[in-house]
This record gives sequence, C-alpha cells and structure tokens, in this order.
Amino acid sequence: MGLPAYKNEPYLDWSDEKNVEAMRGALKKVGDDLGREYPLIVGGERVETDGEIPSVNPANPSQVVGHVGRATEREADMALETATSAFESWSRTEPEARARILLRAAATMQRRKLEMLAWEVYESGKPWAEADAQVAEAIDFLEYYAREMLRLKDGKDVYSVAGEENEYFYQPMGVGVVIAPWNFPTAILTGMSSAAIVTGNTVVLKPSEHTSVTGAKVTAILEEAGLPEGVLNFLPGYGSEIGDYLVSDARTRFISFTGSMKTGLRINELAAKQQEGQRWIKRVIVETGGKDALVVDDSADLDAAAEDLVKSAYGYAGQKCSAASRAILHQDIYDEVLQKVVEKTRALNVGVPNNPEVFMGPVQNEPQFEKVANYIEVGDEEAERVLGENPGDGGQGYFVKPTIYSEVDSEARIAREEIFGPVLSVLKARDFDEALKIANDTPYGLTGGVYSRNRDHLEQARTEFKAGNVYFNRGITGALVGVQPFGGYGLSGTDSKAGGPDYLPLHMLPRTVVERF
Ligand code: NAD
Repeated sequence: MGLPAYKNEPYLDWSDEKNVEAMRGALKKVGDDLGREYPLIVGGERVETDGEIPSVNPANPSQVVGHVGRATEREADMALETATSAFESWSRTEPEARARILLRAAATMQRRKLEMLAWEVYESGKPWAEADAQVAEAIDFLEYYAREMLRLKDGKDVYSVAGEENEYFYQPMGVGVVIAPWNFPTAILTGMSSAAIVTGNTVVLKPSEHTSVTGAKVTAILEEAGLPEGVLNFLPGYGSEIGDYLVSDARTRFISFTGSMKTGLRINELAAKQQEGQRWIKRVIVETGGKDALVVDDSADLDAAAEDLVKSAYGYAGQKCSAASRAILHQDIYDEVLQKVVEKTRALNVGVPNNPEVFMGPVQNEPQFEKVANYIEVGDEEAERVLGENPGDGGQGYFVKPTIYSEVDSEARIAREEIFGPVLSVLKARDFDEALKIANDTPYGLTGGVYSRNRDHLEQARTEFKAGNVYFNRGITGALVGVQPFGGYGLSGTDSKAGGPDYLPLHMLPRTVVERF
C-alpha cells in the first residue's frame, strides 16, 4: 500500500483567532446536542437497556451530557456471542483491508476534530489544549497501528535450514474484551480498540461509566469507516456489574485493560482461572497507575525544571497516569525550586474550560473529587500545605485548586499512593543517589524524569530509574505515538508499550510453519 510516511498529528494553534472561533462554534453545536440517548451497539443493532448511565459535565454537574445504555450480564452475553461469530469472517479479512478502515477512521476523526474536542470539554472538563492533544493521539494510534499491521502482515524473517522453508507469522486471536478508563476517553479507547481490531480480532468494548458518550462517538466513527457489524460491540456499563462476567467468560480470548492497579490485578486474577469449555490461557494486557517522580539535582536549569514540573503535575488536573505527583529535589536547591514551583502554580489559570487560556479545569467525576479531597485531609496531617484550598462540596463543579505539600516524608501516604489529582508532594534528598532511591521506592514504575546537567547522573538514571518511560530535562507527560512508546512495569502494567513496535504482536498468535521439500 502506498502510504505517506507516518507523522504525528499536529496540535492546533490557539493563538490563531480562526481556530478559537471555530472551537467556539463547535462548543455551541455540541452544546445544542447534549442530553441525547446512546444505546448499546451489538452486531450493528442499537440495543436498549432497562437502566441507564447519566453522563454529566464535571464543570457543571447539573448539565447532562448524555444518557448512556447500562449493560447487564444479559447484554454482555449477547455481545460476546456476536463477537465470537463475527470473528469467523473478520479474522479472514485481509490485513490491508483492516488497515484501511483505521486509516479512514483517522481521516474522519481529523475532519471532526473540533467536534470531538468539544465533546471532551463537556464530558471530561478538559481544557482545549488537553482535548486537542488527546484527539491528536487517537488519530496517531489509528495511523500508526494501520502501518504497523502492514509491516507485520507477512510475519518476520527467521533463518532456514537446507531443504526446508521456515515461516514465522501472526494470526488473530479471537474475542478481545477492551476495558477503558475515563482519563483519556478518546485516545486510549481508540488505541486499545484499534490495535485489537486491525490485528483481526473482534471486540467487546466497555468504556468507562464516566465518559461513555465519548466512547459512543469513537464507535460511530469506526462504524462509519466501514467496520463490519459485530467486529466492535459497544457495551457501556458499570465495571462492578459486568466487568467480572466479561473477564471470566470462556469465550473471551484476551483482555486489554487500562485503569487502576486494583482493577488490573483483579482482572489478571480472574482471567487466570480456566472456565468450563475454555481452550486457551487468556492473555491479559494491563496498563495501570503510577506514582511518578521528577528528580531535580543541584546542577539543573532550575527555571526550566520548575516550569516542566508544574506542567507535568497539573496538566489535566494531575489526572494523567504519567503525571508528576512527586518532586524529589536535591537539598541545596530545594527552597529555590519549591518557591519557583509555588509561584508558577499560583499563576495557573484554573476554571471552566470555555476559552483557550484555561490551563486546568475540574477533576473528572464525583468519586474522583471525593478521593482527592480525602487525600488533601491526609496530606494536611502528614506534611505542610504550601499552596491549595480546601475543596468545597463539588456542587458547582468538581474543582480542586492546585495543591502543593512540602517537607513530605518518603513514607507518607501522599508520597506513596496514587492520588490522581492536582496534588504535588515535594520531597528532599541529600544527594542524587538518595533522590533516585526515593524515586524507585514505589511498587509502580510508569514514568519518571530527571532534570540535571550532570552527565554521570543522567547515565546512572538511564539504567537505574525504574520506570517504563524516563524523560531527561523535560516534562514527563505527553508521550507521542510511534515516537515514545508508552507503558510501565512493576505494578504499573504488564510491560506492554502502547504506540510502539511491540504492541500489535500482543494481540496476535505467532505461528511457525515448516515445510520440508
Ligand atoms: P478503574 O480501574 O476504576 O476503571 C477502569 C475501567 O475498568 C472502567 O471502564 C471500569 O468500569 C472498569 N472496571 C471496574 N471494575 C471492573 C472489574 N471488576 N472488572 C472489569 N472492569 C472493571 O480506573 P479509572 O478510574 O477509570 O482510571 C484511572 C486509573 O487508570 C488511574 O490509576 C490511572 O493511573 C490509570 N491509567 C493508566 C494508564 C496507563 O497507560 N498506564 C493510562 C490512563 C490511566
């Protein structure tokens, strides 16, 4: 297939008034379309359910973004059955044809970009630039995985011995259950689903109960791109109601999950148990959370370090799995960097994301708001709060002010547990060795970073920093598809790398075929 070389989707320039006007138009258009119903889609059919999941705007919880179907085990069973029968023909569809559907979906998403951004603003409370980065990432996943499938479609070279042909190639696996989180409801959901589909599998897609309208929009785009009925089944529902059923069922061949460590471990455990009639060991691809640290040593450019620390900690209100939630500062520059971080954080524009100047909006949902508020109570007992306010009751929007704790002990809960909100714990280290030791003293291992001009320190961190994605002298969020393959180890995941060259093979069965002549 003659395709242009892969490149990342560019971000919109919000200093261009034309873009701002166009975005205002999209917000108005989508605003007029709020409150609609989004049923399940199984085998191309719209399926009504008895219950529903209301999706609300986190910046204004009385505004309903949409009413989404609420699947029970009954519909989950239908979806698994449908995906099982659709696998027969989809798995035989040529890889090129599968890849073309992703490319077409990417083109549609590009054409509808502002509309997708507007849904993100309403359903996720994302500031414009964050929504833009997310939709760009979703487009990147589609473009990248299409090309990856073309690269892998004939397998990989192996050596041969005389008189024989030795072949090594990949085949589709079966039905994949894709379970998505709410924090990147376009990008991660698109990435996980499209990887499973382009490799010839069929999918039961369970979006997060907090962002299912966005999931419905992505599903519609893939449908319009020509995906045959039954290949992608949209099954919104509560994890607590249908999660175990989907994961345990004997028809499920693999599970692709992104979300919390607790849920990920449960899925891993349930999937390991063989069910009656199950003829395979289920494969589990799990991406979970992090307690990501940025280390600043005494040789660093302190202004740049503070700037990137603030962006990494508070972008999308700290609700990125890659967000900096620990700053580990060398004792000699501790006070100076802390002061710079406090100043820069105080200057952040926090509010309803209805214009491009807003840097940080609300946290995404009520349980999330309560969880972060609880951690602020914990933090007040454990350390010194140098910035932040007590959150209100959330009734006017789930807003939490950027919060900073200083003098945080490495044993404190706010230094060890994933808060997933705009709360930064600042720790002090005697020297670089101790800083790295503190950074690594966590069961997670997702992202991390070092700000330093000391070559030895950077080389030491290159091998010793225990995180899947390590960044030097820059922020630690915003991994680019195809450029910075993303994923953690330890309890942060099953060592997979989304947006990287090893990702698609996780969704396929490698086969060796030998013919003696
Ligand atoms: P979550 O675990 O609460 O939910 C994730 C998904 O799992 C949702 O769709 C939910 O409905 C479903 N679920 C819940 N219980 C289930 C069960 N028993 N069986 C099957 N599915 C079930 O996580 P969340 O709050 O949506 O997402 C936030 C978490 O995701 C954070 O910990 C964050 O760090 C992590 N995350 C990780 C990455 C990564 O790439 N490593 C990316 C984004 C988010």
